Amino acid sequence: MVAEIIDGFAIAAELRRDIAARAAEMKEAYGVVPGLAVVLVGDDPASAVYVRNKLKATAECGLRSVEHVLPANTSEADLLDLVGKLNADPSVHGILVQLPLPKQIDADKVLGLIDPDKDVDGFHPVNAGRLSIGLPGFVPCTPRGSQILIDRVLPNLAGKHAVVIGRSNIVGKPMAQLLLQKNATVTIAHSKTADLPGLCRTADVLVAAVGRPLMVKGDWVKPGAVVIDVGINRIEVDGKGKLVGDVDFASVAEVAGHITPVPKGVGPMTIACLMLNTLDSAARRIAAES
Ligand code: NAD
Repeated sequence: MVAEIIDGFAIAAELRRDIAARAAEMKEAYGVVPGLAVVLVGDDPASAVYVRNKLKATAECGLRSVEHVLPANTSEADLLDLVGKLNADPSVHGILVQLPLPKQIDADKVLGLIDPDKDVDGFHPVNAGRLSIGLPGFVPCTPRGSQILIDRVLPNLAGKHAVVIGRSNIVGKPMAQLLLQKNATVTIAHSKTADLPGLCRTADVLVAAVGRPLMVKGDWVKPGAVVIDVGINRIEVDGKGKLVGDVDFASVAEVAGHITPVPKGVGPMTIACLMLNTLDSAARRIAAES
């Protein structure tokens, strides 16, 4: 193997320790404990696991979390009502509504009601706009975490070509904005892109956020490139479930300079950045009120 592994698990643990130290200082200086409200609607097992992990990380970082679990048949009006209450609650600095939501609920409407200054997921159109014009706001956790990993191994992106595969609002587009802010020349590729392997071969930084197991192969990658694998896909190997990314780790690690593994790459950074966004939210409120 040629590539160096970017240890997202260890870097996220370091970040959580730093957040815990800053949260303790905040409590000491201002008596404020950053609070995260997590709303889970329905009984999707994957969502329940994500929420559990988020709540665990909150406690580890010395933040406060309040979980709101609502039944699958919750009406849109009831959920909007809860979001309104959380918006008005001064002890809540971050509001996270776990997606997907049941069919009867319009997710855009719910996410659009979250106070942009408590939108620690960074999904509100106001925060997407702030990111695109370079104003301070909340950056979605997965791209924020991915950018921290890239900064570790390639801090200067001026003159570099970054290719992001995937144009979702929660990963691909904000990732591209962050890379652009870092002075990379950015291409966003997607399902209609022609000659994707050829394009990827021109990338100094390649971010895969597609949701297709093992799609990016070694011969798609420029020697020495930084490869960030956002994908989380469950596949069957020898009758057993296995988590893999969008990158074929075995072949790409023979070519790339740096690569994130799946699991223990981008995933832990996503959760750590949720904590970071919640801490930032509390710090901004303190600054605004003093
Ligand atoms: P999405 O389905 O919203 O978007 C996928 C994107 O991939 C689309 O823009 C689509 O155009 C593009 N695409 C699909 N097929 C393609 C192809 N054959 N060639 C090129 N582009 C193609 O997904 P998402 O929410 O952005 O998530 C992407 C992946 O990242 C998923 O595997 C998801 O589970 C994972 N994810 C991981 C984390 C994490 O914390 N690690 C967080 C969010 C998402």
